[in-house]
Amino acid sequence: MSRKGIQEWKAEHKRIAAERMERLFELAEGIFGGRPELADRYVQLAWRLKTRYNLKLPARLKRKFCRKCLSFWKPGVSCRVRVQSGRVTITCLKCGRIVRLPYKPKKKE
Ligand SMILES: [Zn+2]
Repeated sequence: MSRKGIQEWKAEHKRIAAERMERLFELAEGIFGGRPELADRYVQLAWRLKTRYNLKLPARLKRKFCRKCLSFWKPGVSCRVRVQSGRVTITCLKCGRIVRLPYKPKKKE
C-alpha cells in the first residue's frame, strides 16, 4: 500500500469512528429513560472511540455527558443545568463535577 493509501485508510477509519461516536450518543439519549445504566455504557464506549482515534468532540456533545465519571447527562435527572449571565452551568449529579459553557442561543435554520 502506498503512503497516500495508508493516509486515506486512516482518515476513513477516523471518519467511521466519528460517526459511531455520534451514533452512540444518539443511542444513549434514546435509552436513558428506560435503562440509564446502558446509556452510561454507551457514553463510555463513545469516549473510548474518541480517545483511541483522537476525535474532536462536537460542541453539542460536550453538554451530553460527564467527562469525569462518563455518565450520560439528562437535564433534571443526571445533571442540573443553570443558565446565568450568558453561561450554562452544568452540575453532574453523580460525581458533582461542574462545567461552565458559553451559552449560545440556537440559530434558526
Ligand atoms: Zn460526573
